[in-house]
Amino acid sequence: MSDASSSASSPQGERELLKLTAAQAARRIAAGELSALELFDAYRERAATDHAVGHEGLNCFTWVADERAGVEDSGPLAGVPLAVKDLFCTEGVPSQSGSRILQGYTPPYTATAVARLRDAGAPLLAKTNQDEFAMGSSTENSAFGPTLNPWDRGRVPGGSSGGSAAAVAAGLAPWALGTDTGGSIRQPAALCGIVGLKPTYGSVSRYGMIAFASSLDQAGPLTRDVTDAALLLAHMVGRDPCDATSLQLPEEIVLPSAQELTGLRLGVPAELHGEGIETGVREVFDGACKRAEALGAELIDVELPHAPYALSAYYVLAPAECSSNLARFDGVRYGLRAPGALELLDMYTRTRHDGFGPEVRRRVMLGTYALSSGYYDAYYARAQRVRTKIAEDFADAFKRVDFIVTPTAPTVAFKLGEKTADPWAMYLNDLCTVPMSLAGIPAISIPCGLSDGLPVGLQLAGPAFSENRLLDAAYALEQEFGFDGSAAHV
Ligand code: GLN
Repeated sequence: MSDASSSASSPQGERELLKLTAAQAARRIAAGELSALELFDAYRERAATDHAVGHEGLNCFTWVADERAGVEDSGPLAGVPLAVKDLFCTEGVPSQSGSRILQGYTPPYTATAVARLRDAGAPLLAKTNQDEFAMGSSTENSAFGPTLNPWDRGRVPGGSSGGSAAAVAAGLAPWALGTDTGGSIRQPAALCGIVGLKPTYGSVSRYGMIAFASSLDQAGPLTRDVTDAALLLAHMVGRDPCDATSLQLPEEIVLPSAQELTGLRLGVPAELHGEGIETGVREVFDGACKRAEALGAELIDVELPHAPYALSAYYVLAPAECSSNLARFDGVRYGLRAPGALELLDMYTRTRHDGFGPEVRRRVMLGTYALSSGYYDAYYARAQRVRTKIAEDFADAFKRVDFIVTPTAPTVAFKLGEKTADPWAMYLNDLCTVPMSLAGIPAISIPCGLSDGLPVGLQLAGPAFSENRLLDAAYALEQEFGFDGSAAHV
């Protein structure tokens, strides 16, 4: 019996447990050195405490398991509990996508990604807070109120998967699932000092993910380290008959092991490295690039000439798709129905008025406008053409380099309320992450240092299906950076 398993109830035992990454915990459970139930209970108690105190805590969770259902010590994930973003449908468990309009909705089925992880042995620990329908970069647009950043409670954790990122960074969950439409896994991972991976579009089934923008939405892991990201991803991916856009990866995801970057060409695009990136972030990023060179990588200047138009295209396309996806929330089938309606149309209007927050309403209006006849060609069709150009830019760049490397976010975690009044300032958070989403390519964010005591993320992006190579490079960099996230543990 290890120390960890023999005394999880003592403060020291709990600290030992918390130090374990998910992969380490899985290994110990499989070897019989740690009890899966003990691990589940330790995390369940921590998560439940944060949940119970609401805004006195970090407000990471929208729901926490109250029983030990499904805790097994077998399977490749061997009982390591999983926190899941609220927008994944989970059978019998509230799934609101951070919205008031889905109040009281408990789905009759479980999303494929979550079901696959459960079948691999990872029990559901909790659902995590998020921006409403994944629209936002700070987790302030949630019907459950904002999540706080464990590095500094006066600051946001990023978004929209802010609850997942904060929970993992604070040691309230061993690992978590998020979704990324334009940066919502990578940016909160960066702001909370953890690892976040957005896989190639289509590699993880979207079945049971409450949709925001279907041509962009992708599920992925938020973890303490790169090995955990690989382990979680390996058990989520693959073709699913319930999602026609899902596909089989050409190779299995394996755990990373690279120690160096010899022969690797890293492209630094001027468009995502200059203007708009705050000085402290740029300094830490430049230092990280030097360390990549020391590991054997060659840094090469590349151009992504259409990247500066990515945000504009994204903020036409994503709202257009959301205006269509959110049409189903009308008070008839799911969640909230506003009382006092005079007739059917009045009921729809009142429900949508009461149920949607201001950012969601803004996007539905923008999207409806962009898709309306007379404006479709000028906005939607044009944005689609820009999207193609951006994908072509990456394809050109990947003829010269293996990966693109950028800061993940232009700033460190900002103060709560700092950007809520200015949507465009909020949208700028995704400057460096949106281009990869539009191109459908995989990208990972890993912590690479601190600026003003707050974490900075480094983003590596590769061609479609380069996950194994990306994870390997990220792993080698992670060993080199030696980033210590334990300061954020609560
Ligand atoms: N912050 C971006 C938005 O608000 C991206 C969100 C996401 O990736 N879900 O749309």
